[in-house]
Amino acid sequence: TFEPKMYYLEKKDIPELHKSFDRFSHKGNFGKVMLIGGSYGKMGAVRMASEAALRTGSGLVSCFVPRCGIQVLQSSLPEAMVEVSEQDHYLDEYPPDNLTRYDALGVGPGMGQHSKTAIMLEELLKLYKGPMVIDADGINLLASHPHLLNMLGHNIILTPHLKEFERLAGACAHQRERVDKVAEFVEKFQCTIILKGAHSLIACPDGTLNFNSSGNAYLATGGAGDVLTGMITSFLGQGYSPKEAAFCGVYHHGLAGELAGKVNRRGTIASDIIAKIPQTYLQLGI
Ligand code: AMP
Ligand code: MG
Repeated sequence: TFEPKMYYLEKKDIPELHKSFDRFSHKGNFGKVMLIGGSYGKMGAVRMASEAALRTGSGLVSCFVPRCGIQVLQSSLPEAMVEVSEQDHYLDEYPPDNLTRYDALGVGPGMGQHSKTAIMLEELLKLYKGPMVIDADGINLLASHPHLLNMLGHNIILTPHLKEFERLAGACAHQRERVDKVAEFVEKFQCTIILKGAHSLIACPDGTLNFNSSGNAYLATGGAGDVLTGMITSFLGQGYSPKEAAFCGVYHHGLAGELAGKVNRRGTIASDIIAKIPQTYLQLGI
């Protein structure tokens, strides 16, 4: 029978995962990442994921959005570069050019579920061999196009909340079934799954089930998950392994939520979480 190895991820576990900070660094040392997503009326998601990647320390952040997103992104986040796909309101079937330029990709925030976008996701999975986070509508498209699941592997992190995970793996009647199904999924497809919520579960292909200790219910607000996607993508781009990037991303995200919640309480919004990312490094002495 399956014997899971369970861990509780705590503050003391994080500093040792971090890379040292070299005085002679240039922006190329901190990774070049691309966030892919957005659709008409949902551009904020990719915008927040991109800002979160910058605040987590990425050297260069690009986004790939439908045409209608360019003004939104360029004026609200001048630090990010923007590339657009042909269609105005959704991502068409063509992935961005020269994907090898990127050290990591984050796909899905606000992306919508157009059938053309599903083709683009399939192309990405075929063409891109680096590390990738798939979130939100990216996960929903995997659920509605299950042949894509066989293209997952060690370089891929999926970040579903419970509803998204149930679309992938079927309904879970109770807590225990949820954990078992996540472990089974990871065993079968050899990717990392982060099942989000209170005490997010990070299930890794090495067979470990890791529960996060940071965070609070002030994180339960629209856009919080998009912030997490940007953070994990950033760590992947900085050269952290999928497991390290998942641990650091989830822990720092929860801690940023705690810091934002202290001042903003029930009025906490996702942008407040982003604003507190830099302070999480300070708190951890990094
Ligand atoms: P999403 O549902 O995609 O917006 O993601 C929500 C984010 O907030 C995830 O990172 C969750 O882990 C986090 N979150 C939501 N509710 C809670 C909670 N009650 N305690 C801790 N973290 C939470
Ligand atoms: Mg989400």
